[in-house]
Amino acid sequence: MNEFFTRLREIYDDFDREYMTDNDTGCGTCELCCTKKFSYPPLSLLDLDYLDYFIKEHNITPCIETFKSFIENKDRDYCPYWNKGCTVYKGRPFFCRTYGMFHFDSEQPLHPSCIYQDKTIEVTAETRYKKIKHLPEYLEMRYKYEVVKAKNNEEKVKALVTLGGEYINQFRFEEGLSTFLEAEKLAPEDINVLYDLGFVYRSMNKFTEAKEKLEKCIALGGEDKYPYVYQHTGFVYLSLNLFDEALKAFTKATELEPEVALSYLGLALYYFTCGNKEKAMELCRKGLEIEPDHKMGQDLLKSINEA
Ligand code: SF4
Ligand code: SF4
Repeated sequence: MNEFFTRLREIYDDFDREYMTDNDTGCGTCELCCTKKFSYPPLSLLDLDYLDYFIKEHNITPCIETFKSFIENKDRDYCPYWNKGCTVYKGRPFFCRTYGMFHFDSEQPLHPSCIYQDKTIEVTAETRYKKIKHLPEYLEMRYKYEVVKAKNNEEKVKALVTLGGEYINQFRFEEGLSTFLEAEKLAPEDINVLYDLGFVYRSMNKFTEAKEKLEKCIALGGEDKYPYVYQHTGFVYLSLNLFDEALKAFTKATELEPEVALSYLGLALYYFTCGNKEKAMELCRKGLEIEPDHKMGQDLLKSINEA
């Protein structure tokens, strides 16, 4: 068993120990999750390969391709591993373990027949890492596995960008940075890598490095995919006291994203920094009209009023 599968098995066993209790009746009566009526999220390569290993280890049929086909095409009424219960229970994918038990704010409400209706734990993108045991490590492993399994440089860069993005989500900026730098070695002109490098450098207050990457991203046409690249660049310029450049970047941001509060708030901050309180107030109010609860906007308005 490779090191990924060994650790995944430990995580899964511990996950079940943590969340499944002797009182759990299981969810055999509803069966919804195991039927074609259910919308499955894309399954990770790590989960699929581990399940493949698991069924071979336990001589379970049918093969993994049948399962993949069910998930992708819903070509049968029930999951091929359903037989009055899950026949791959100890090796079932992560998603099968969390559905119902946890409910993401972006998901549809639980099905009325679900036994977890009154017990489900509500999670958000921010709280999930704390509320779901092992989730940070599971996600890191899942994306690292994709890096290891990449068949060519293009796939590897894509996988590294995803892994780096996961580190950013987990506020692990040092690891995010080294991951993006590894991607940059393979694809120095990839706008995704450059944008992410600019973002992570900015998050680490390394503004000179952030400036270099964001400017390169823009020069290579990155604004089509990342119209907000100008906002980031504007804040970086301000941090470096490059005021003319900041004005140009924030102005461009308002042109590209006129419905986004931060475009105006960046410009407001520029005018406030340059001592033009009146203009700063006008732009700050404009930003807050778009997003009244914007924390930075509210703080900026307070600072302008107190100045
Ligand atoms: S793997 Fe098991 S829990 Fe997951 S859908 Fe299939 S039968 Fe249900
Ligand atoms: S919907 Fe709920 S009760 Fe039904 S199979 Fe899924 S987890 Fe079990």
